[in-house]
Amino acid sequence: MTVAVVLFTSDLRLHDHPPLRAALASSDEIVPLFVRDSGIEESGFAAPNRLAFLSDCLRDLDAGLRERGGRLLVRSGDVVGEVGRIVSETGAADVHVAAGVSAYARRREERLREALESGGTRLHVHDGVVTAVAPGAVTPAASDHFAVFTPYFRRWSAQRVRDAFAAPRTVRVPDGPGSEKVPARGAVSGVSEGLAEGGERQARKQLTAWRRHGLAGYEEGHDDLSGDATSRLSPHLHFGTLSPVELIHRARSAGGAGAEAFVRQLCWREFHHQVLAARPAASRQDYRTRHDHWRSGADASKDVEAWRQGRTGYPVVDAAMRQLRHEGWMHNRGRLLTAGFLTKTLYVDWRIGAQHFLDLLVDGDVANNQLNWQWMAGTGTDSRPNRVLNPVVQGKRYDPDGSYVRRWVPELAAVSGAAVHEPWKLRGPAHDRPDYPQPVVELADGLARFRKARGLD
Ligand SMILES: Cc1cc2nc3c(=O)[nH]c(=O)nc-3n(C[C@H](O)[C@H](O)[C@H](O)COP(=O)(O)OP(=O)(O)OC[C@H]3O[C@@H](n4cnc5c(N)ncnc54)[C@H](O)[C@@H]3O)c2cc1C
Repeated sequence: MTVAVVLFTSDLRLHDHPPLRAALASSDEIVPLFVRDSGIEESGFAAPNRLAFLSDCLRDLDAGLRERGGRLLVRSGDVVGEVGRIVSETGAADVHVAAGVSAYARRREERLREALESGGTRLHVHDGVVTAVAPGAVTPAASDHFAVFTPYFRRWSAQRVRDAFAAPRTVRVPDGPGSEKVPARGAVSGVSEGLAEGGERQARKQLTAWRRHGLAGYEEGHDDLSGDATSRLSPHLHFGTLSPVELIHRARSAGGAGAEAFVRQLCWREFHHQVLAARPAASRQDYRTRHDHWRSGADASKDVEAWRQGRTGYPVVDAAMRQLRHEGWMHNRGRLLTAGFLTKTLYVDWRIGAQHFLDLLVDGDVANNQLNWQWMAGTGTDSRPNRVLNPVVQGKRYDPDGSYVRRWVPELAAVSGAAVHEPWKLRGPAHDRPDYPQPVVELADGLARFRKARGLD
């Protein structure tokens, strides 16, 4: 009997899973393993919203494996130590894992390789699982990664993406090794009230509905804050309950302008992943320094707290920050304008904002979060690093009738139309708003402070 371990990490699915497929093809039995990695839990990265979503994913993965005659093994501890333990318990000759992108995932691979190969067990690291095109598979002539999106998109689009694999019909797991109980979502405290449901089954349901009802209108609707017309598939891509390869094929086969625009967004995800893979330090350090001396001290802390609580006095910023707290998710346009507001208008270090997002986002992802924050701060790959988004203009453009603001900022629910974006202009008793704060800063003052700090005047 040959046995192989399949170590699940950011790929909690049965459909289109190259490590699982390879293990099943070459071994009689497999051990599907997930390790609640103490390294991640101690790093502070395991925020409640993601832990709760993860519980859904693990339970669903276990259920999917059981339907096929197998089961999921869950262990807790150091991932390398736990894999080693399973290998000695089962006599596995091979371990399969998806290639990771972050410095942490790379180090995990190295440590696994060292530990396993000294004992004669082979480690197989599979590309095309977390991203469709492996980071580093396409590079410009003079660099190890693309620093500009458009040429990357061109080269990425020309790559052949392998076919998506079906889920296995049967899975045989050896009887011996025991598993911890898969934790229930309810056991996690501090979870956002409106948090989405995790798991591959839910992901596939959402994908089907999205293809039928959302994709065609994506190009037109994706920036409309109240329309909420994006796929909301980001947590599923983050936890790997959906495969990017399958998603690209499903979108391309639907065709049309909506599908094209959607695939382009998927490419942004891959773009940021290849930047992070080449420059792992960009998760903490400026990708391109602008020699910022970010604000600090009591005044800055007060502004940051107002921003975190959704009480800056700028309605569209506050609406988006409250959506984040309530759902553990925020619309992309909201992410852009709240990040721009913190880093440019308030001139606060992008790392402070990125950490708050990571504390709450169910899709909180080192590559996408840190590099999008750097983009907005002008320390990343944006070719216009000093652009400043005006929250009033943004609000009127992307929430023209004000309904997004009214939904999330009940203090302004009685204000009709776009007037909701400038509450300081309202007059009369209907607009008596004792609870809603005055702006934390005048936009012109924020802009002047930023331009001075960046030496633009
Ligand atoms: C400051 C900031 C922080 C962000 N943090 C994260 C994060 O932690 N995790 C995360 O997945 N995305 C992040 N994004 C990117 C983007 O906002 C979300 O992926 C998107 O809003 C998720 O919603 P959706 O699935 O409905 O997206 P759709 O519009 O339906 O897009 C489909 C998919 O494309 C990818 N995508 C779309 N836009 C981007 C983008 N700008 N960068 C990278 N990938 C993109 C996502 O995987 C998304 O699920 C961030 C953006 C900003 C500006």
